[in-house]
Amino acid sequence: MLTSDALRVTIEIERFPELKRQHLEKESSAMIQAVSESTVVDRKLVERVVRRVVLSHLGMAPSSSSERTSRPSELVVSISARHVHLTDEHVEILFGKGHTLTPDKPLYQEGFYAAKETVMIVGPRRRMLPTVRILGPTRSYSQVELALTDAISLGIDAPVRHSGDIDGTPGCVLVGPAGAVELDRGVIRAARHVHMHVRDAERFGVQNGDTMHLRVRSPLCSVLFEDLLVRADDQSKLEVHIDTDEGNACNLDAATEVELLRPDRPCRCQQ
Ligand SMILES: [Zn+2]
Repeated sequence: MLTSDALRVTIEIERFPELKRQHLEKESSAMIQAVSESTVVDRKLVERVVRRVVLSHLGMAPSSSSERTSRPSELVVSISARHVHLTDEHVEILFGKGHTLTPDKPLYQEGFYAAKETVMIVGPRRRMLPTVRILGPTRSYSQVELALTDAISLGIDAPVRHSGDIDGTPGCVLVGPAGAVELDRGVIRAARHVHMHVRDAERFGVQNGDTMHLRVRSPLCSVLFEDLLVRADDQSKLEVHIDTDEGNACNLDAATEVELLRPDRPCRCQQ
């Protein structure tokens, strides 16, 4: 039975042939790189395991007729693989004077994209990740987002931080075809978070800056992720961002159900 507090969702995983093909390729091909003494599977540079979710507000008690009739949002859980955000200035240093990023694939959130450009990330003792995707558009600061496994292979002690909170974080060297940039800070493990429209936030009974739980049900591999930061505004679509380690921990590929929960109202099975 469902509680009135949980948005129960049923995943209908769309196994896009394209994604599957890429998946097979990345597991078997030159994408597998040996870095230092450890072998690192260089997963699709911007790997987005997009799950189409049929979300139903079972048992929710809407407080207005408009809520009652509004269509529920679709929850998407995406794995955000290691990537880099750059300033305009750094794009020019790495790729040449006057260069701007070339959008390759649009991301789920409106206006954001994976660029065609990649950079090499070099850590201490010359450990490196050869081709890390850049996400656009450019920002006012450069930032490198890694999973813990990536950070270990680079030899960088990256702290868990929310995007933009980079004071006191370690740096690295970025190398592009036209030059190199030494970042004195900006290497982080991006903290898990959920983007949503303020309408979704209202429905969940949360506000921007709150935290929620994400439950992923997966055969022999279910995980309850706590501490998802709610990032609500009037533009975002409902989407959870976790990193590759987190996606692997719950075997997201095989997940049968995902659920967003308010931490103060756990699901009924725990009451
Ligand atoms: Zn995000």
